[in-house]
Amino acid sequence: VTLSGLEQKIVQAVESRKSALLEDLRLHVEIPTGGFNEDGIELTRQLLTARLKGLGAIHRQVPGDTKPGWLGGGTGGDCGVYIPSTSVCARLGNAIDGRVLIAGHMDTVHDPAGPFRLLSIAPGRKTATGPGCVDMKGGLVIAMAALEVLEELGVPASWTFLLNGDEETGTYHSERAIREQAVGHDFGLALEPALPGGALAIERVGSGQFMIETRGRAAHAGREFAKGVSAVNKLAECILAVARMPRPEAGTVANIGPLRGGVATNAVPDSAAAWGNVRFPDPASADELGAMLDSLQTEADAMPGVVVRRSFNRPAKPLIPGTERLALRARGVAEDLGMTLPFEKTGGVCDGNIMQDAGLPTIDTVGVRGGGLHTPEEWIDLTSLVERCQMLAILIARLSAGGSAALDAPVTRS
Ligand SMILES: [Zn+2]
Repeated sequence: VTLSGLEQKIVQAVESRKSALLEDLRLHVEIPTGGFNEDGIELTRQLLTARLKGLGAIHRQVPGDTKPGWLGGGTGGDCGVYIPSTSVCARLGNAIDGRVLIAGHMDTVHDPAGPFRLLSIAPGRKTATGPGCVDMKGGLVIAMAALEVLEELGVPASWTFLLNGDEETGTYHSERAIREQAVGHDFGLALEPALPGGALAIERVGSGQFMIETRGRAAHAGREFAKGVSAVNKLAECILAVARMPRPEAGTVANIGPLRGGVATNAVPDSAAAWGNVRFPDPASADELGAMLDSLQTEADAMPGVVVRRSFNRPAKPLIPGTERLALRARGVAEDLGMTLPFEKTGGVCDGNIMQDAGLPTIDTVGVRGGGLHTPEEWIDLTSLVERCQMLAILIARLSAGGSAALDAPVTRS
């Protein structure tokens, strides 16, 4: 399969937007959307929604759900202050087959008041650094341009663009919106940055959060030590039990930290807590880790007592046949464009985990290329703006045209 005449027009139309893509990237990178900066997220939401409406998309906002309070992580966190973020779903086309759900997050991990604020283009204009430039403002920018190019050229496409504002903090507010949308679509595309070398992630582990809270009895360490029951000692036992859980060879991980416990060195502590994260390759290992954590919990009136809370919010994303076919379809587009698209596994998680868990075959690293994610060195390969936008536009067009039944059929459009 090579590019059809219409697909060659798509390639040219994206190429002609080269400087517009860069300017749009600058605009979005310089709107700070990290650190629960709802003003920045709202501005991003408005800018993108206006363009989606301009394409004739039907748009609606889905209010966010609240996040369990214990997930604050002992570090202050966002709980109790943060207004649950709203997700936007904009839909175009009413096909009953070949419906594409495109998911993008507007938030970043970067402090909105920190020094890393601007898009700085390197001499030679091949790369640039900036907060969220690859994760995932670049992805948002190319997806928006891809949809506009398809509309401009009259290419029929059936898609929903879902924008959320809490991916970096676990998608607690927008998970319901994602699951609801996943049900009505045939293919999922998430705009996370490509893996190193431009690779597509086809398998992801799952991830979960937990908190172990212990309760003891306070006593003066000098006068009444024997009357006390140390919550810290009990927590230490629990931590050692968790430390025995991981089986890295089988892909299970359990990490503990941060910790809290005690108020003064001369008082037996009556409360302590630890937060942690688990990673697992499949539902069975998630259940096994969950059962091990739950087994640490004691009866409510036990002394010392242990309460375990957990939220395994990112299910594992194993390679399923539908996702493999979708990945091969994306690879076909890349190769028709003269690019390569290697496949890889990753220990990271994203909203693609939720989309596929909701039954939607999903590939989730169709965004731009770059690196230094979640660091002040985050960078983007600027040539990927055009290349990945071309790939995305043609992929969306082919998926919309071919329908899910025709995934392996050659493209017949001319
Ligand atoms: Zn991301």
